[in-house]
Amino acid sequence: MAWEAVVGLEIHAQLATRSKIFSGASTAVGAEPNRQACAIDLGLPGVLPVLNEVVLRMAVMFGLATNATIAPCSIFARKNYFYPDLPKGYQISQYESPIVEHGELEVEFDDGSTKCIGITRAHLEEDAGKSVHDLFPSETGVDLNRAGVPLLEIVSEPDMRSAAEAVAYMRTIHSLVRYLGICDGNMEEGSFRCDANVSVRRSGDSALGIRAEIKNLNSFRFVERAIEYEVARQIEILESGGSIIQETRQYDSVTGETRAMRGKEEANDYRYFPDPDLLPVELQSDYIDRVRDGIPELPAAKTQRFMSQYGLGRRDARRLTLSPDTADYYEAVVRASGQPKLAANWITTDLAAALNRDGLEIYRCPIEPTELAALINCIIDGTISGTMAKKVFAAVWRREGDPISIIEKQDLSQVSDPETIDNLVDQVLASHPAQVDQYRAGKTKLLGFFVGQVMKITRGQANPEMVNHALHRKL
Ligand code: ADP
Ligand code: MG
Repeated sequence: MAWEAVVGLEIHAQLATRSKIFSGASTAVGAEPNRQACAIDLGLPGVLPVLNEVVLRMAVMFGLATNATIAPCSIFARKNYFYPDLPKGYQISQYESPIVEHGELEVEFDDGSTKCIGITRAHLEEDAGKSVHDLFPSETGVDLNRAGVPLLEIVSEPDMRSAAEAVAYMRTIHSLVRYLGICDGNMEEGSFRCDANVSVRRSGDSALGIRAEIKNLNSFRFVERAIEYEVARQIEILESGGSIIQETRQYDSVTGETRAMRGKEEANDYRYFPDPDLLPVELQSDYIDRVRDGIPELPAAKTQRFMSQYGLGRRDARRLTLSPDTADYYEAVVRASGQPKLAANWITTDLAAALNRDGLEIYRCPIEPTELAALINCIIDGTISGTMAKKVFAAVWRREGDPISIIEKQDLSQVSDPETIDNLVDQVLASHPAQVDQYRAGKTKLLGFFVGQVMKITRGQANPEMVNHALHRKL
């Protein structure tokens, strides 16, 4: 009998505020350890947390963008546990009354099919500090710079049925939070990470199997591999007559395996209770309306608009709207060139490949939108051929100059003077009399040979259409 995988994700998105969720300490990355932890973050006696208004606005934006219910009253709760990186002895989170509940998100897969994934809840909480194991030979350090950094924990329904579906969902959330401007999405710095809950059941069963929770996955590739490994592991255990235990597991990116960390704790282990230092958060509808007015155009709407306004296919439109930076870059090229199709082609092929090769995000692209537009215009007006354009592109990428100066400097412009072309064709025909006879006797496939000869002489710079034309005429 076949097995079915069931996956639910808990995504932690670090909210892009300048100060922490309950204190005025900076959230900037890269500071010396413990230089950005104030008395509140350290949990010193007598201090009181004060909620950062910006995190509220961000959570509400997320709720509105996922069609969720925004709680008119939400409550912060203390989640108690003991750990060296948690000096207060508790984390401030939300438990019974989170700010966002019952949302949904449409996820589109590579093959164009879609699926609606339920969002159980999204709640606000503070991050903990970090234990540093590799700084001192026989001791562990604690860096509390992260303590109190705001997080939005986005909990999905167990609606995903494969590792690929889970990754597609996570990518969609990643794109959404960046569009909303509420999270920078930087996975290497840990601003966007997830815990994957995985179980398996016999196909057709309606009850859920026992799950394992894989902690702290900070790349899409790790999420995919960890889930695939975990599904296979659970199936193997069940098929050999064993049973799954509910536990927390860790993914090892070197071996690609998951291994047990600890037994799963129950909610009552945490002794949740409402934080007496923080007031319940009551939101009025005019506040929510104001937040709604500030929501920018979101990926799904932008994809639709790119299709209708620029005549793009769904696939290209989606690729170009995956990140707001890519979409902005594309629209800047279109504005400067007036060529939506060619702009889409260049960005989704040559530019995407070059960014990928050099490991760059588009906002660090060495080619300005206006430069790509200038290159496109040179193709349109016949100054250079498509083949030459690729050379110019590579040279601009290496910052040897802007497209126009590179074309001039390297003399790459296309040969499209009719008289020159005629002369070149005459020259080629005169030096290959045998082939000319064969052509005239019916071997018209030789046309390509003649074109090739002209291109050879001009190092590929002759206008191919004009060469073809001249050859036809003379032959
Ligand atoms: P906890 O906070 O203890 O991790 P939750 O009930 O909040 O527990 O669930 C966390 C996540 O686990 C959710 O995303 C949910 O969809 C998912 N989940 C719950 N049960 C299962 C299951 N049997 N298989 C896979 N995922 C599950
Ligand atoms: Mg969990």
